[in-house]
Amino acid sequence: MSEYLFMHGGFSRAARAAAAISAALPLLIAVNPAAAQRPGGLDPAARALVAGAKFKLAKQTLDGDYDRTVKDIVDLTEIESPPFKENARARAYLAMLKAQGLTDVEMDGAGSVMGLRKGTGGGPLIVIAAHLDTVFPAGTDVKVKREGNKLLAPGIGDDTSSLGVLLAFVRAMDAAKFETRADILFMGDVGEEGPGDLRGMKYLFNQGKYKDRIKYFISFEPGRAAEITNGGVGSKRYKVTFTGPGGHSMGDFGIVNPAYAMANAITAFGRMKVPAKPRTVYNVGIVEGGTSVNSIPFSVAMTIDMRSAGKAELDAEEQAFFAILPKAVADENAARSTAKGKIAFEARLVGDRPVGLTAPTATIVRIAAAADRASGVAPKLGSSSTDSNIPMSKGIEAITLGSGFDTYRAHSLEEGMTLDRPADVANMASGLATILLLAEAR
Ligand SMILES: [Zn+2]
Repeated sequence: MSEYLFMHGGFSRAARAAAAISAALPLLIAVNPAAAQRPGGLDPAARALVAGAKFKLAKQTLDGDYDRTVKDIVDLTEIESPPFKENARARAYLAMLKAQGLTDVEMDGAGSVMGLRKGTGGGPLIVIAAHLDTVFPAGTDVKVKREGNKLLAPGIGDDTSSLGVLLAFVRAMDAAKFETRADILFMGDVGEEGPGDLRGMKYLFNQGKYKDRIKYFISFEPGRAAEITNGGVGSKRYKVTFTGPGGHSMGDFGIVNPAYAMANAITAFGRMKVPAKPRTVYNVGIVEGGTSVNSIPFSVAMTIDMRSAGKAELDAEEQAFFAILPKAVADENAARSTAKGKIAFEARLVGDRPVGLTAPTATIVRIAAAADRASGVAPKLGSSSTDSNIPMSKGIEAITLGSGFDTYRAHSLEEGMTLDRPADVANMASGLATILLLAEAR
């Protein structure tokens, strides 16, 4: 996942007051549409679920299975899973989904793996996903080191910990004999991290066989249960290549140089004004090119990133960027001789993550918040760039939740997680409560 932009208190004082009033009403056992329309109207159902004997058994199973869940995470972490090379881990996870008793276990055309926990019928299809890929290149040492209550290895938190938690969810539901009205598709997906450009999700929602059936989507990422990501930060990434005639630094002095054109562009890009709200940012991440110190380069390139939580703001940022490029090139063509050729540029889209939002009033957000409160956790809404961007951008109710473990230093070689069994189990239980409520469990 990328960075979080969390805001505290996703619910207004009025909503909390309504919650207090509805708490005084007789308990509703199941989520019903009328309750789903009222702020806080889902809290009694969440409390009833969490207080029930079946849920207690499920939570005991999460606790009893804790060492196994950690072992699953360690085993999966030690199968490296670089961008575009998730296949070995995908096959291992597919076998685990099958061993868990899920049906219709398969690998799809993008390389994601999935299995169904069938419902009693007539319910929606819910997808519960964690991503298989890490940011680490092939050959990275992924052996897990244990130091006291810490487990350290690149990728162990993001998002391998969530892959293990998904399996724990299935075991807990089975042990407690929960039946759901909804079909639940548990999934390990490919291509969530930067270069993957959400290709697993793009396939699932544009081409996959379940694409027209998915009503709710939850992706689990590292973090505690309180974190509910309902906003999808969009991004556009371009590699811009500037080309020119090139030549000898002394013999051809005076001709146009693509490095100066790119410098013009970078300087103008760096001066772009972007709104603080919704948070909108940009970055030049890679500059490259040239062949030797005494040559005027014939090619240089930059790879840039633009992001915003607002669609209009991201579009405006992209338009401003597009306006910069021809001017930067024209200025260089005007500044020096074009006798041997002109500077040209080509901008290639290398990353495209749509902006998305699941409204705070959407059923899925309110169920997750109610499940948190019933578990004694104060929910926080936030925005991030995750797998949920794709369903969000299509108007499908989607959120990203913390899968429960306390993880740190994601995307670094010092990545790790601190084991704290009671807290980890409590956090996992909150995520499970969200799934059960959404799936209309009984
Ligand atoms: Zn992630």
